[in-house]
Amino acid sequence: MTGWDRMARLFGADVLAYLGTRTAGVVGLGSGGSFVAVSLAMSGVGRFILVDDDLLEPVNVVRHAADLRDVGRPKVDVVADLVRQRNPAADVRTVIGRIEDHLDLLAEMDVVVAGVDREQPKFAINQACLKHGRAAVYAGVYERGEGGDVCIIYPNKGPCYACWAERLREGLSHPAEEGELDYGMIGPDGTLAAEPGLWLHVVRVAAIQADLALNYLLTDTPAHRALPANTIIQANTHLEIYEGKVALPHTAEWVSVPRNPRCLVCGSQQRLSTAEWAALSLDDLISMGNITLETDENTSAHEG
Ligand SMILES: [Zn+2]
Repeated sequence: MTGWDRMARLFGADVLAYLGTRTAGVVGLGSGGSFVAVSLAMSGVGRFILVDDDLLEPVNVVRHAADLRDVGRPKVDVVADLVRQRNPAADVRTVIGRIEDHLDLLAEMDVVVAGVDREQPKFAINQACLKHGRAAVYAGVYERGEGGDVCIIYPNKGPCYACWAERLREGLSHPAEEGELDYGMIGPDGTLAAEPGLWLHVVRVAAIQADLALNYLLTDTPAHRALPANTIIQANTHLEIYEGKVALPHTAEWVSVPRNPRCLVCGSQQRLSTAEWAALSLDDLISMGNITLETDENTSAHEG
């Protein structure tokens, strides 16, 4: 019996066959992106578009799915090989370059995994996803890998990534005390800088990212699971999510981030008034995460 036979029993042969036709785009193939690509291949996803402009360097291999044997090769080629080692039937397309120069590729992806660290390409991906009606899963790892967050941004439903980043990065960030190394470093563009962490801490966040991408690819199948909210904050160590709220190691909080009615990128549809939106604290968003599911028609459907 092959592993795929076993997977077919778990998922159902129809679902597995369907997954084999789905295309995951993974943009950025560093520690997180490489892990997500290989994990999706191991989960039965059959088609990949991999985008990255870097070569694998010796310094990468302590935090990468690949190892020293592949140093010097383009990361897209390295990860394509790893994907085929798990699923020889996979159809893998590789693009060496920056996503900003290949945004129309997103139209060919059924889900976009943003494996990039910098915020700038995330915003470019966001705009292209809005244009092409694509869902994207974004992840950020906090300083020293103490935690991270993952969000799924649906096309024309709920917040776009610009709404999300303005709300959550702002909500999470507060000035660090003198001498205290806060989990959230505010970058030059006013957001939390995503920082490389230890491999074990990175892959905990990347595993959530892969799982959300896989779940989205399973939309309309019996294997799809409804999510309680659009964002997960994962604590790897004791993590102060906001003042007075410390998450225990290996716990997660669901957070429901709404659309920003003033968003310059997507803000044509009013969902909350500007005043309502501005008044929401992260605490509010977390409690919304437990009881509210963002949908197009009904922004306040209480689930339980
Ligand atoms: Zn927006």
